[in-house]
Amino acid sequence: MYKVNTNFLKLPGSYLFSNIARKIREYSEAHPDDEIIRLGIGDVTQPLAPAVVKALHDAVDEMADAGSFKGYAPDLGYEFLRNTIAEHDYAARGCKIDPDEIFVSDGAKCDSANIQELFSVNNRIAVCDPVYPVYVDSNVMAGRTGTYDAETGTWSDVIYMPCTQDNGFVPELPKYDPDIIYLCFPNNPTGGTMTKEQLQRWVNYANKNGSVIIYDAAYEAYISEADVPHSIYECDNAKYCAIELRSFSKNAGFTGVRLAYTVVPKELGFYNSSFGEARLHDMWARRHGTKYNGAPYIIQKAGEAVYSDEAQAQLKEQVGYYMENARIIKDGLTDAGYQVTGGVNAPYIWLKTPGDMTSWEFFDHLLETAHVVGTPGSGFGPAGEGYFRLTAFGSRENTERAIERIKKL
Ligand code: PLP
Repeated sequence: MYKVNTNFLKLPGSYLFSNIARKIREYSEAHPDDEIIRLGIGDVTQPLAPAVVKALHDAVDEMADAGSFKGYAPDLGYEFLRNTIAEHDYAARGCKIDPDEIFVSDGAKCDSANIQELFSVNNRIAVCDPVYPVYVDSNVMAGRTGTYDAETGTWSDVIYMPCTQDNGFVPELPKYDPDIIYLCFPNNPTGGTMTKEQLQRWVNYANKNGSVIIYDAAYEAYISEADVPHSIYECDNAKYCAIELRSFSKNAGFTGVRLAYTVVPKELGFYNSSFGEARLHDMWARRHGTKYNGAPYIIQKAGEAVYSDEAQAQLKEQVGYYMENARIIKDGLTDAGYQVTGGVNAPYIWLKTPGDMTSWEFFDHLLETAHVVGTPGSGFGPAGEGYFRLTAFGSRENTERAIERIKKL
């Protein structure tokens, strides 16, 4: 008889988005004439940039020709893409990342979930609270998080680092030393950021403590302030302690196209008494080669095109469009008397729910009175209680209408 990985059974149900979907469905059935505007889910709405579409078409034509047809892609990614990434995302920012430290994949979600496989089950993880749920859930599946307390919504063996108004949504160094530290900046869901100086403190801490930082920079393209680093490798000695995750989803609208990459520096070495000197880089290369057959050629060509001058101009406009939505939401809510943060270096606006309303009470209130859907902050962790997330990824028209409705409440 087979035995299952019971760690999966420890996971509480996907309460957040299924609960939101159920509430919308029930409301719509009861009020079929009310038009609901959704500013809840972090998915993009603008079409692919024309320069990217052209690259896709050209790559499809290559695949239709026996002379240029491509089969399996190299496991770790085509060199043309890894070279382009190393040059534009790193060398141009003064970071020395070799193309073979870059591992191309089909998503930062899977990379952020898979990377924990490199580490023993005995490692203690630390996460920001609130947090993108994948980091914790993937560690639950691996059996690294202890027991779940439904009352507090926390796991016994996870170190939670609250990010609230009191600390400017920047975590303090943890009281207990973690082995693996997940950081995501610009942050989903708070929209918060760390300055380079603040991030350097984390790099120094990790190097001193022998911890590894898994740095999720999926929203790097939205940074507008000069002192906010685009990569953790802008910090001194980060190559000795940090893995970086990047995605083409939010900078280039690839949520349905699928392309991402992970940087595992060769400096991330360690000594093991049974195996001697070893490197996380080689372990990830082995894992990638064994479990992954490479992102499609067509998609990697589209990824390369993202870095062309033409696409960069088009994508700058697209990011600008979303960030103008963010400004409209932020200014509108501030005028309406809400306490609002985020929306400057990230496409997320994080607001304090009015009075003593819980996140879910505010969700119901907004749905019933303004017919606007957002995401309750408590769904991202206990410290998200009393907060609410709106995204700037909607259309301009819907964003403006949603804010007009909220202002009238
Ligand atoms: N990381 C963070 C912090 C995200 O918010 C998201 C998506 O919302 C992802 C990763 C997923 O990226 P991808 O579309 O590349 O899987």
